[in-house]
Amino acid sequence: MATVGIIPGDGIGPEITEATVRVLSAAAPYLSYEYIPVGHLIPGGEHDPLPDAAVAGIRRLGAALKAPLVAPRRTGRIVKVRPDGDRVYPSINNAVRRELDLFANVRPIQSLPGISSGPDLDFLIVREVSEGTYSGIEYRIGDDVAQAVKVVTRGAWERIAHFSFRLAVEQGYGRVILGHKANVLNLTDGLELEVVQEVARQYPEVELQDMMVDALGQAIVRGAVPRAVVLLDNQYGDILSDVAAGVTGSIGLGPGANFGESVAVFEACHGAAPDIAGTGRANPVGLILSGAMMIRHLGDAAAADAVEAAVETALTRVRTPDLGGTATTTDVADAVVEAVRAAAPSPAQA
Ligand code: ATP
Repeated sequence: MATVGIIPGDGIGPEITEATVRVLSAAAPYLSYEYIPVGHLIPGGEHDPLPDAAVAGIRRLGAALKAPLVAPRRTGRIVKVRPDGDRVYPSINNAVRRELDLFANVRPIQSLPGISSGPDLDFLIVREVSEGTYSGIEYRIGDDVAQAVKVVTRGAWERIAHFSFRLAVEQGYGRVILGHKANVLNLTDGLELEVVQEVARQYPEVELQDMMVDALGQAIVRGAVPRAVVLLDNQYGDILSDVAAGVTGSIGLGPGANFGESVAVFEACHGAAPDIAGTGRANPVGLILSGAMMIRHLGDAAAADAVEAAVETALTRVRTPDLGGTATTTDVADAVVEAVRAAAPSPAQA
């Protein structure tokens, strides 16, 4: 009996969380859940959006499913006061990752059959999420000047490069593609390229290719990226994973996971979508597939396969409006649960 954390999130978060927990309960009935509310909208007036107890709870459980959290524009900074100096994070999502030492955000980009009229995509984005332009180091100098610092360290890039090459070996990808802009950002992106090239020498069975990130964006949209691990820094990975999810049919389809040394947090690519919260229009597939990644990570590959197959089956019948359908979030959850049960009847039903 494993227990995982559940962060129900903001906006459409609670709706897609409920849908996902229903699917996981059908596919992996041995799982239990500990709800851990975090974020700017948790009840209680003046509060810390990321209480230390929440971070400790996720750490203790080792795995959590996290729905999207609203990052208020211009005011979403999180400050954690520490005896050795305050830690400032630019957003709640960034704070969750960095307080838990999660450094690799993995986003599988895979077209589902019959969903998009665009090109078929099949690659895996690994996004470095501990530093880069999202380090939270920004200054305003008077009224008219603002600066942001892009932090790139050898240690973080050795860590993410080894993670990416190991993943390429374990999952049979023959290639790692680094997207960068070292022709303009000579020192920062230049260091990323230098470190990744050094680490690549330790994995002779995996080919390293590097591409300018703008050309890579164009290749994604044209369907010209080969099957590979695509390694990107924090900001490029944020942008291109949404672009890639869009090419596969909808931003609502993309799953993801954040890995550290001993903790993993699973979350969809998309944000909290406050514009459609409460309308029943939210596509729960990205979070459901993130849940499948979580149960695979916990060792139950059969249940993960069952959820992924059930999503494909369900999408032949029911689609939310972002995919051109009229189904609600609940309709999709019902159809996925039904397909999971049809594939592997539970003992009670058999
Ligand atoms: P963030 O900065 O947290 O990514 P955002 O406002 O930039 O947030 P999203 O919240 O992802 O981006 O929303 C972008 C658009 O995509 C919105 O129009 C939203 O309604 C839509 N969208 C996002 N997620 C889904 C989903 N699961 N189902 C349907 N539409 C979605």
